[in-house]
Amino acid sequence: MKSTRPTPPPRLGVHVSIAGKLSGAVENAEALGCTAMQIFSRSPRMWSAKALDPDEVSRFRGLREKYDIKPAVIHASYLINLATPEGGLKRRSVEALIDELDRADRLGVEYLVVHVGSCKDGGAVEGVERVREALAAALSSGRWSTQLLLEDTAGERGDVGARLEEIGMILKGLPGGERVGVCLDTCHLFAAGYDITTPVGVERVAGWVERAIGQDRVKVVHGNDSKKGLNCRVDRHQHIGLGGIGLEGFRAWVNHPAFREIPMILETPKDTPEADPRNLITIKNLRRHERSE
Ligand SMILES: [Zn+2]
Ligand SMILES: [Zn+2]
Repeated sequence: MKSTRPTPPPRLGVHVSIAGKLSGAVENAEALGCTAMQIFSRSPRMWSAKALDPDEVSRFRGLREKYDIKPAVIHASYLINLATPEGGLKRRSVEALIDELDRADRLGVEYLVVHVGSCKDGGAVEGVERVREALAAALSSGRWSTQLLLEDTAGERGDVGARLEEIGMILKGLPGGERVGVCLDTCHLFAAGYDITTPVGVERVAGWVERAIGQDRVKVVHGNDSKKGLNCRVDRHQHIGLGGIGLEGFRAWVNHPAFREIPMILETPKDTPEADPRNLITIKNLRRHERSE
C-alpha cells in the first residue's frame, strides 16, 4: 500500500480588530484557529497615524512566529485613492501608500492590500493611467519586504479595477510592477458581474484571471459572500453561503485548482460573536479534503 502524506490545509483567516493593540490581534486570530490573518495597521478612515510602538512590533512578530499565522495581510487605508484626478488627493494617497508599506515592512507582514481606486469622472482608461502613475511613484521611492497587492473592486460608480482586464492593464509594463501582486475579493467579483455561483462559472472566471492577470500573481483571496445580486455593483459583504454567491459557489471556489491553495481571508460581518467561527467552519466544511464539526 502506498502511503500518502497529508498536505496541510490551505491557509485561512479573518480580518481581526487591532483594538488598540497589534499583538492582541494575533491573539484573537489564534483563538479563532486562524492560520492567516488581516489587520489595519492604522485607522483606515484617518490620514494621520500613530507611530508604531517598537515593543508592540516585536510582540506582534514574535506571536505570529509562535502561532505560525502566515501570511498576515495589512489592509491599507480606505482614504487612499490611486485613480483620483485631483492633485492634492493623489499626492496624499501616494504618501499614505508609502507609509503603509513602511509600517507593513516593520511589522514583517507578507502583504499590503490596497483598493485599486475610483475616479468620479468615470473613464476607466484615464483611471488606469492615473493608477499606474501613482503606483510607479510609490514603488520608485523604496524597497520593502512586504508585497503590495491590488484588490479588485465591486464596480461602484467610478471604480477602477472591477474588470480583471483593468488590473491586467495596470500591471502590464508598470515600472516596479514585478513586485506587485493581486488580491481577489469574491464579493467584489460577483458584484462586478462575474458569476461564481457554479463550478462552470468558477472555471470560466479562473480562465479570465489567467488571461488578464496570470494565476500565479494572485496571492490572497478575500472570501466574502455578497448581500446583493450578480452585477449589483455595490460592495456589501455577507456571511458565507447566505448571499448571492451561496454555498455551491463557495464549494466550487475553494475546491478549484486555480484558487484552492491561495490563502483566504474572510471579511464577513461580525454581527454576533459566533459569526467568525461559523464562517470559518463553513469554509472548512466546503473543502473536499478537510472537514471539521
Ligand atoms: Zn476585500
Ligand atoms: Zn468589499
